[in-house]
Amino acid sequence: MSFLTFKHVSKQYVDGKNNQGYAVRNANFSINKGELVVFVGPSGCGKSTFLRMLAGLEEITSGEIILEEQSLNDVDVKMRDIAMVFQDYALYPHMSVEENLSFGLKNQRKPKQTIMQKVDMACSLLDLSDFRKRMPKQLSGGQRQRVALGRAIVKEPKVFLLDEPLSNLDAKLRVQTRKMIADLHNRLKATMIYVTHDQTEAMTLADKIVVMNKGIIQQIDTPERIYLYPSNLFVAGFIGSPPMNLLRVKIKNSQSFKLSEFNVQVPDDYQVLLQPYVGKEVILGIRPEYIQLSELTTGESGIKPNLIEFLGSENLIYFMLEEGELIVKKNLSSKMSPSTNYGLKIKRENMHFFDPISGEHLKRRSSN
Ligand code: ADP
Ligand code: MG
Repeated sequence: MSFLTFKHVSKQYVDGKNNQGYAVRNANFSINKGELVVFVGPSGCGKSTFLRMLAGLEEITSGEIILEEQSLNDVDVKMRDIAMVFQDYALYPHMSVEENLSFGLKNQRKPKQTIMQKVDMACSLLDLSDFRKRMPKQLSGGQRQRVALGRAIVKEPKVFLLDEPLSNLDAKLRVQTRKMIADLHNRLKATMIYVTHDQTEAMTLADKIVVMNKGIIQQIDTPERIYLYPSNLFVAGFIGSPPMNLLRVKIKNSQSFKLSEFNVQVPDDYQVLLQPYVGKEVILGIRPEYIQLSELTTGESGIKPNLIEFLGSENLIYFMLEEGELIVKKNLSSKMSPSTNYGLKIKRENMHFFDPISGEHLKRRSSN
């Protein structure tokens, strides 16, 4: 039996104009104990709704949420043993750090000594010991977020829910706090569900990523598998920085196709899959780092970059092809120039093909 299971969970809403919609639609999956699961997707895709349903702040329309073999559907918020950390921290402004941390435990009438022990533990875990007597307004954003995390930790909940906890921090602090959350997860061995619109956060933190779009789960997998085997165009175009190049190519025959000036051989394992597309278009996907460029001599037909961006450790080279924009990522040792004519080569194993209408990865469809 899984630790936490969503069984065909949906959340419907009716908006101001009486239109019905789904914030979450037919979510059906499980989470293991101790996992750090990251929900990622664009703003409005239903991530917060997920957490709120789990916390009991929002009723579900249909389905069932099961935690340790107990259905949560009729369990009150206070009885769920789940702690949530919000983007805006939601600290009590008139209470000191220490009081913010101990407030929930005092309400539960826990013994004074137990409360002190837990508050001490949270302060040392989160490096807050020097700020215990301060009020929230005397703290920086990062310190406030640590207090918010501490408030969840002292509850020792079965599940931690974190809703975009880093969004209000500046870039440097975001990286530090991200590492701290990873470290906390390792030390506490706690089950955590973390929500973000930032794919880098998802990739760096997650044991398992849930990619969402428009209320529908697109793929659930390890970060590595999400990156290497995106199940559809949405995932391919959302994960990675820059994301996968997606180019609309016409399939001449099942052995080859044209990409700009170049004839590209279809990889063996796609020849059968591409058969139904002969004479039609498919979407070719290639990650920017898997494209090889070679300098051509004048006279040979090739492609010229229309922009080269210097990013410090690497260059991004932009080409405008008939089939769409192509971005190539290169380390600094490869000298690039906008006036050079380039040939391009794509390793077969790094080509992906997607159906232009359903958006599905062709390999995914054949395995279903
Ligand atoms: P996210 O956290 O991913 O940004 P939310 O879970 O907050 O997304 O919202 C998901 C979608 O559901 C949004 O499009 C939002 O407008 C819609 N939604 C959620 N609750 C309601 C509601 N009570 N009334 C109308 N629309 C809602
Ligand atoms: Mg949200």
